[in-house]
Amino acid sequence: MTTNWTIGGVREAIAGKKVSARELTEEHYKRIGEKNREVNAFLTLCEERAYAQADKIDAAVAKGEKLPELAGVPIAVKDTISTRGVRTTCSSKILENFVPPYDATAVSRLETAGAVILGKTNCDEFAMGSSTENSAYGVTQNPAAPGCVPGGSSGGSAAAVAAEMAVASLGTDTGGSIRQPGAFCGIPAMMGSYGRVSRYGLIAFASSLDRIGPFARKVEDVAAVLKVMAGRDPNDSTSTTAPVEDYSSELKKPVKGMRIGIPREYFGQGMDAGVRAKIEAGIDLLGKLGCETREIRMPHTDYAIATYYIIATAEASSNLARYDGVRYGLRVENDTLVSTYRKTRGAGFGAEVKRRIVLGTYVLSAGYYDAYYLKGQKVRALIAQDFREAFQKVDAIVTPTSPVPPFKLGERTNDPLQMYLADIYTVTGSLAGLPGISVPCGKIAGKLPVGLQIFGPAFGEAQVLRLAHAFELAGGATV
Ligand code: GLN
Repeated sequence: MTTNWTIGGVREAIAGKKVSARELTEEHYKRIGEKNREVNAFLTLCEERAYAQADKIDAAVAKGEKLPELAGVPIAVKDTISTRGVRTTCSSKILENFVPPYDATAVSRLETAGAVILGKTNCDEFAMGSSTENSAYGVTQNPAAPGCVPGGSSGGSAAAVAAEMAVASLGTDTGGSIRQPGAFCGIPAMMGSYGRVSRYGLIAFASSLDRIGPFARKVEDVAAVLKVMAGRDPNDSTSTTAPVEDYSSELKKPVKGMRIGIPREYFGQGMDAGVRAKIEAGIDLLGKLGCETREIRMPHTDYAIATYYIIATAEASSNLARYDGVRYGLRVENDTLVSTYRKTRGAGFGAEVKRRIVLGTYVLSAGYYDAYYLKGQKVRALIAQDFREAFQKVDAIVTPTSPVPPFKLGERTNDPLQMYLADIYTVTGSLAGLPGISVPCGKIAGKLPVGLQIFGPAFGEAQVLRLAHAFELAGGATV
């Protein structure tokens, strides 16, 4: 079996008839068969749909047709993203048997571009968490760091790519859920600007923060997948009409002279010494590439965690009200309507989801709205302003993705606050709506992957990708 497939490699092999899309699909299902029992990256497979798509690609090859850009590329999709006819659970008992009647726009765009959807991946329930341990369907192992969590919430998508069970995958990021598992599993992972990729068909957690984005083994592949999904969708009024650049050709532009801001607030206490050493080595590497690095200030960073957990839980409490045992999903019948609601939610939601519904309902309630939710929105504006001011002076901002390396399974499950605090570097860019990527930046003791995070200005995806690509080519993964 060929290993380390990239999108470019798939393209060449399929066009050159070295492999058929069907064979490539079989190869990936074979690997899933061998590894998934242990890794638990996939919750549901959709072989029939995958092979039908692969056969379509092979027929196009046989006829000598021009192939679309992702022809035959095996892709895994996080289980918070709707797939027509394929069970979509959000890793929750409440949606255990939910089969969406439509595809998310991101998924249909990938399939139109020739991608083969292999199946649905494990995650924290409703994308709430940072370790994939909040799934109702078991934990996912980190293939890059055995015994450790894969990060979260999109841990299954990151693990699927890291274990070569897929060439690329889709995750969702509300406060770090693409970037942090990318960092933990040692692969690049990107969230575009808010509105860059349609949220249609993404099951909502916090609507003003949620975004869909790709994982892959190369930055080039992240660029290719993002490009296919990006762009205005009439089904999502928050998707933007801003033009989509050709990210793949943008990668080739030079990074010499790029001005890079290093925010002092991101290098304070709480950062693991091993992570710090790798990030500092990564910043040195950027300097060697001819980038001009300088210290900047982001004075509202300290308030980001509190702000994020107020806004995200408030929106979640409202979005999750739809799981009432009446419309769809689990229903636990009881004497009255109210007790049916109660029993359904009691049985259907896990502890973390319940905690957030309670917290979110509280911060939105009369008398507390002004003190918490409204205040949170004001601070959010100040955090966005920190970024706007910084981007007057620099082209990109570089930080660690996570203050800690991958931690052991079970190590943090009893301390939700500790888990929340570790989102410190990712939630800022989420609140500000900006694009961010995590790119591999060495391994602590040769074992635990570290991720370097790059933020760009709104709709500056091309420059973020370009810098990440240059960093990767220069050997960022082994600093
Ligand atoms: N870890 C963060 C949370 O628990 C982010 C989750 C996400 O981005 N979906 O909310």
